[in-house]
Amino acid sequence: MSSTVRVRIAPSPTGDPHVGTAYIGLLNYIYAKQRGGKFILRIEDTDRTRFVPTSEAMIFEALRWLGIDWDEGPDVGGPHGPYRQSERTEIYRAHTSTLIENGSAYRCFCTPEELDQRRKAQLAAKMAPRYDGTCRRLTKEQVDANLAAGKSFTVRLAVPAEGATVFRDELRGEITIDHHNVDDQVLMKSDGFPTYHLANVVDDHLMEITDVIRAEEWISSTPKHVLLYKAFGWELPKFWHMPLLRNTDKSKISKRKNPVSLIYYRQAGFLPQAMLNFLGLMGGGMPAPGDHNNTPEQNRAAEIFSMADMLERFVFERISLGGPVFDLVKLKWLNGEYLRALSKEEFAQQMRDVIFSDAFLAKLTPLVQNRVETLAQVGDIADFLFKDNVVPAEDVWMPKKRSREETLAFTGELLAALEGAEWAEPAIDAAIRALLTAKEWSVKEGFTLLRTIMTGTASSPPLLESLGIFGKARSLDRMRRFLDAQKKISKS
Ligand code: GLU
Repeated sequence: MSSTVRVRIAPSPTGDPHVGTAYIGLLNYIYAKQRGGKFILRIEDTDRTRFVPTSEAMIFEALRWLGIDWDEGPDVGGPHGPYRQSERTEIYRAHTSTLIENGSAYRCFCTPEELDQRRKAQLAAKMAPRYDGTCRRLTKEQVDANLAAGKSFTVRLAVPAEGATVFRDELRGEITIDHHNVDDQVLMKSDGFPTYHLANVVDDHLMEITDVIRAEEWISSTPKHVLLYKAFGWELPKFWHMPLLRNTDKSKISKRKNPVSLIYYRQAGFLPQAMLNFLGLMGGGMPAPGDHNNTPEQNRAAEIFSMADMLERFVFERISLGGPVFDLVKLKWLNGEYLRALSKEEFAQQMRDVIFSDAFLAKLTPLVQNRVETLAQVGDIADFLFKDNVVPAEDVWMPKKRSREETLAFTGELLAALEGAEWAEPAIDAAIRALLTAKEWSVKEGFTLLRTIMTGTASSPPLLESLGIFGKARSLDRMRRFLDAQKKISKS
């Protein structure tokens, strides 16, 4: 294995770049820079059902916005490419053959229907669902006959029936997982694409990754990975599983409770330095203020640090396993500190770059040009695009014939429908109308509700265009905040 430290992040391009990717990216970046190592960006795009074509470019852009730059990756190249898994399928196929030949994996001809039936039977019998090993028992002749008959197959890992896999997590120490709790994982799907587990291990090895630093949700996958390293006869990397970011109620961070898209934070005017600082606070790798004689101001000041400070003072072994809370109130406080520390010129430039950018004004123009008699009136009709907080009055947002509960339930469903929609006017329109039909709401009811949530009033420039230029991340955030505010009112 390489003596140079080599680490990586391996995001899957399934949507907007996630704050969790930036958090793990930052940690890997710091780890590499502190040790004169290399930081690699690999795109894990083998799950074609969840693939979003625009996602990869957004991931690149968001990480660069934060100043988390990679030494090797799909766009910058490097000696271990290609760095996109969809371009490496031949490599995975060859490695799958090796595993079949050495008996660590086997072909499984069970159909999805058969698997589903057995799964249901296991659940009904109150057993944990897992593969029952049918194809593991096939003789060579049976396998050959199936292949000759052209039956489609997956390839599964032959997990030892007895014993346990033991591995070391650098933050937790030894972790032991009984093989009874490890399923014969599918490594290669019937379409010839590898699953995450196989591709991840093969790539980490071929890319000479020395330290796998990732979120703790992958701990349960690690025994499968360790078995794969052993099956190939490869040396294990070190594993560091970082505590998951949490909502303020300690549940795993989710878009229901927090904006999780980095695009949102950028568009809403968070500064990259503030976001980096905030992410650096997660997990406790930076020295704690510590001194009990500190004033609250001194404690707060100790929480403000730059990337250079993190490179100097961040200690991985200090990371604590209690879930770090992604607290928006704190992030806003930090961002405010950073905004106030800017010079007047820098602040004005930020406004020009983010809030009043030429690109944004160009998009706004067609919406307002024909609707005003003076330029001053632009503010009268488009103020909602420049506001953070919009609070529509109840008698405006609630349709006459609907109850409060019904309307809020509908809004929740509308939010879910729009989350899944491509952010282009026809797609937004189709998503709204499909829900209106399904729920038997009139077009007027639905559009007025959404318009008032977005703009605060019942009359505004055309809604779909407005949503388009306001952007997906911020539009959805406005809906989420409206729902949160209403739920709080309902409770009180
Ligand atoms: N593709 C996985 C993800 O989306 C990578 C997990 C890992 O780092 O092993 O996070």
